Amino acid sequence: MPELLVIEDEPKLLRILQRGLQEEGYTVVAADNGADGYRFASSKTLDAVILDLMLPDRDGLSVLRELRREGFSRPILVVTARDSVPDRVAGLDGGADDYLVKPFAFSELLARLRALLRRDAIPGGEVTRLAAGNLEIDLLRRRVTRGGEEITLTNREFELLEYLARRLNEPVSRESIVREVWQDTTGILTKVVDVSINHLRRKIERRRWPKLLHTVRGVGYCLGDAPCRD
Ligand code: CA
Repeated sequence: MPELLVIEDEPKLLRILQRGLQEEGYTVVAADNGADGYRFASSKTLDAVILDLMLPDRDGLSVLRELRREGFSRPILVVTARDSVPDRVAGLDGGADDYLVKPFAFSELLARLRALLRRDAIPGGEVTRLAAGNLEIDLLRRRVTRGGEEITLTNREFELLEYLARRLNEPVSRESIVREVWQDTTGILTKVVDVSINHLRRKIERRRWPKLLHTVRGVGYCLGDAPCRD
């Protein structure tokens, strides 16, 4: 179920969008100001953002630019009453993927959203990006960022992270990691897994970043915002 963030200060429109999108099967996070919207976008795992440009506190365009500067890579659909050409250009230059002028038909919003979400995936519906909290993995460019900051991983660490991220919030056994990531069927490399996990953990959990890589006692490991149940 795709998760969307809607940043819109008009209460009535926000309610309509929220309800309509939920009826279409989307999970919706709502923000009625730029500061909350920015905070949600940089801390949550989202599939797309719908962003109003005229907001009471901070300008939507500045939210847009800052998110892009920090490496936020999901589609952003800008929705605004500003319909002049310079505003459209500024929106697109600022990193918007598409632009919709108010008032708009809800069906058009849905169509554009579907197109953006489709474009975000490579043909065949294969996933090109994975995320855990504010950690993002670009599978095509083999690039990892957390809070927009690039993290350099070795090939093996990248594969390990990808393997765990594809099983988000699920405990993964060391045996399966060794088999799938190291292609070792003998199981003698399980100690190597622990060492690599420690290296990976140090890289993705430095500074004040919240814990993402959890040890599941007697099982193995789990990647997720919260400790996973086994
Ligand atoms: Ca507005």
